[in-house]
Amino acid sequence: MSARILVVDDQPLNVKLLEAKLTAEYYEVETACDGLKALEKISEVPPDLILLDVMMPGMDGYEVCRRLKDDPELNHIPVVMVTALDGSEDRIRGIDAGADDFLTKPINDVALFARVRSLLRTKLALDELRLRDHTSLQFGAPDDPDAAENNAAGGRVLVVENEPYDREMIEGVLAEENQITSVTNEEEALAALSEPFDLIIVSVDLGETDGLRVCSQIRSRDETRNVSLLMMIEEGDNENLSKGLDLGVNDYLYKPIDKNELIARARNQIRHHRYQEKLRSTYQRTVSMAITDSLTGLYNRHYLDSHLAALLDRSKRDGRPLAAAIIDIDFFKAVNDTHGHAAGDQVLRELAERLENSIRASDLAARLGGEEFIIVMSDTDMATAQAITARLCRDVEAEPFACTLIEDGLKVTVSIGVAVVDYRDNTPDDLVKRADEALYEAKNSGRNQVIAALG
Ligand code: GH3
Ligand code: MG
Ligand code: MG
Repeated sequence: MSARILVVDDQPLNVKLLEAKLTAEYYEVETACDGLKALEKISEVPPDLILLDVMMPGMDGYEVCRRLKDDPELNHIPVVMVTALDGSEDRIRGIDAGADDFLTKPINDVALFARVRSLLRTKLALDELRLRDHTSLQFGAPDDPDAAENNAAGGRVLVVENEPYDREMIEGVLAEENQITSVTNEEEALAALSEPFDLIIVSVDLGETDGLRVCSQIRSRDETRNVSLLMMIEEGDNENLSKGLDLGVNDYLYKPIDKNELIARARNQIRHHRYQEKLRSTYQRTVSMAITDSLTGLYNRHYLDSHLAALLDRSKRDGRPLAAAIIDIDFFKAVNDTHGHAAGDQVLRELAERLENSIRASDLAARLGGEEFIIVMSDTDMATAQAITARLCRDVEAEPFACTLIEDGLKVTVSIGVAVVDYRDNTPDDLVKRADEALYEAKNSGRNQVIAALG
């Protein structure tokens, strides 16, 4: 599906010109001839990007932009303001209204397509995150990132600039609100990346070294892939501008740097980065909530099912042994009945911890439900699995469990059934079922012991 771009301009000729250029690049183009019509079209079918003329009769471009950015349903759509004048005042008004970018008339094709591509790329990535975030809110995830403080103060900013005058100016202007680190060349810049930043400002011209290469390195590293990147270039340097935007630079400043523009753009980028980070962490927390058991912190049944399927496939394909052991606490109901549910929970947590400690990092421990746990051990044959579980069983019996109510701790035993993958195991359930049958036998023949499923 191609991206939808809305072109808003009161001059039919301008509309036609932009429409022709964008259609030739296979974008889907919609048009509107004034601010109100634009808002109507946007709320009917939100476009992926808006090219917005500033000077229009009635509602001007600033006002349209402000209304969009005030609307939580629409404020994620990137807006490019098209200004007739190249005045920095226009840009600042635009930034204040929430514009994501600017183009000046007559529109330069290189700048147009570079910006459109770059903004669309960010938009699509954010759409993906917003979608996941939506799902996570349905799951009852704790935080709504939209409610996050819409605050850009206290940003961590890295400045990469070899011109002392510019570097000191940037430091001076941004230090009031932010925490600034500044370096002068590529090597220092890459070394500084071990610290986290919200925004990195890079001069394209670093004398001996190449600022664009620094940008490309920043984008290619996992830790800095998502940081906001602002580049500084000479006005009219379209070649580097389009290279930078293609590398994923988020915004640029022309030299000599306008202080107000610097402040406004830095704020915008810091805010943007924080919003993205917030979305990401909400998503990650939701993922971890969906796969972990909240009482013990072990993986849950849901995760086990999907992961065990992959382990089983690998074991069969490579002919490597795979063992599963189900651990069930003996007479656990009596623990609850005698000492209360909270004491029972404490035992479950401690057993989970002991299980984690008794396996290798590459093994898996999960809570199947209630007082039933499973450990899955890769590259482990029956003899080894039996030795590991027998030791676990002995240790549980030998070392009482901490219990706030009983000074000497609580005596607990477990029964364990073990199975190793063989030709009968077509699905994870087959393997788990055989371990479960062995567990049943362990319970029936006296508890506090390990029984192996028949090979
Ligand atoms: P057996 O030796 O045959 O396994 O006997 P049991 O008492 O351990 O087994 P049973 O299945 O009869 O009882 C399990 C008990 O575990 C009943 C249930 O209330 C308790 N239980 C399940 N989930 C939790 C939990 O999250 N916390 C606590 N405290 N108890 C739980
Ligand atoms: Mg039990
Ligand atoms: Mg049970």
